[in-house]
Amino acid sequence: MKIAAVHTHLLEYRLPTPFESASMRFDRRAHILVEVVCDNGLVGWGECLGPARPNAAVVKAYTQWLIGADPLETEKIWAVLYNALRDQGQRGLAITALSGIDIALWDIKGKHFGVPVSTLLGGRFRESVKAYATGSFKRDGVNRLDDNVADITRYQREGFHASKIKIGFGVAEDLAIVRAVRDAVGPEFRIMVDANHGYDALDAIRFGNAAAELDIDWFEEPVVPEQLAAYREVRDRQPIPVAGGETWHSRWGMREPIETRAVDILQPDLAGTGGFTEARRITDFAALHGVRVVPHVWGTAVHIAAALQFMAAMVPSPMRVNPVEPILEFDRTENPFRQAVVKTPIDHVDGVVTIPNGPGLGIEIDRDALAEYRMPDAGKDI
Ligand SMILES: [Mg+2]
Repeated sequence: MKIAAVHTHLLEYRLPTPFESASMRFDRRAHILVEVVCDNGLVGWGECLGPARPNAAVVKAYTQWLIGADPLETEKIWAVLYNALRDQGQRGLAITALSGIDIALWDIKGKHFGVPVSTLLGGRFRESVKAYATGSFKRDGVNRLDDNVADITRYQREGFHASKIKIGFGVAEDLAIVRAVRDAVGPEFRIMVDANHGYDALDAIRFGNAAAELDIDWFEEPVVPEQLAAYREVRDRQPIPVAGGETWHSRWGMREPIETRAVDILQPDLAGTGGFTEARRITDFAALHGVRVVPHVWGTAVHIAAALQFMAAMVPSPMRVNPVEPILEFDRTENPFRQAVVKTPIDHVDGVVTIPNGPGLGIEIDRDALAEYRMPDAGKDI
């Protein structure tokens, strides 16, 4: 079996109501899927985290090393692709593009052997995971406090046990919102906050000390990802556990945050940090250092399916009778193609998501949806 073709599928939906995190404005949803086609007709699917067109350009650049390769040789292909762009591409798009390819190759490998990727990774520790809701961005034209309270109480009614609140817009306003949400959901519901690196260390420390009484499970991306000393300062000078990692790429990018304990909770993204091949190494390294791992997820059902296969095989750290279980980041913001790209949507029941057990990623792509949400002027291969 040889790789015969690599296609990218750029998807887009214009949002009627744009929204913002602390660091980014979204007036549309745009994601990129990677399709790897083998000479025997077998097809694998992956997804890249980050901007669609630049990712597609890098996937296209990698294609010259993929055509004719054996798709089962995932470790070898990862090393070849990484080395091909290593001198100028140790992080960022070179790794996010490689991630989408690697996920597609593992999908092919699972389909070839007739088993889910979780089996190839060594076996399932769980058949389902609790999901937490990600929403509560700052939406245009609404009162942010009222909107966040309405969103998160709805997630609670839907059965979710936890939700993330987007902060980083200003300490006083953020505190008022987190207080209002805590009052509305009661003491049992789990709350995390995500500053999307909108604070500097001083603001993050001030927020963390003031918000600690509100029982926050983690404080995500308090400062910009390049500033590991600031991460450590935030961790040292306020009591909420610090989380981060969605923009740290490859084992090399994860090494210093783990070794220097910049975070309490590491959030590698399958579609960003190097796919299954690299995320496996990163999770093992985090476990070696006693750092908890909760994967980051932001994309379509392809990305969610990959995260679920990975989470199924995550070894409890530590092993114990009732271990700490990984929880799935479940995006609740507007994106009509998120689940439309697969024939069987991956949904939650009372906040719990069952992990697909079909071959590969356990999903089937709906090509009609790819056509419906195709990015204007995308072309088939950008
Ligand atoms: Mg985040």
